Amino acid sequence: MGALPKRKISKGRKNRRRLADKLTVTSLSKCPKCGARKRAHFECPSCGYYKEEIKKETK
Ligand SMILES: [Zn+2]
Repeated sequence: MGALPKRKISKGRKNRRRLADKLTVTSLSKCPKCGARKRAHFECPSCGYYKEEIKKETK
């Protein structure tokens, strides 16, 4: 048998953990076309615009 957690994580605890992920949306940027808030590296939810400036990344 491999390593197992001693106790089952309760529904409430499990939900709380996932809720924290939902609440903090990382890297929110603004759409240059319509000005709506959108996630960086994702297309705009309202107008579907997508264009990221491709910068030469070192390393
Ligand atoms: Zn947009």
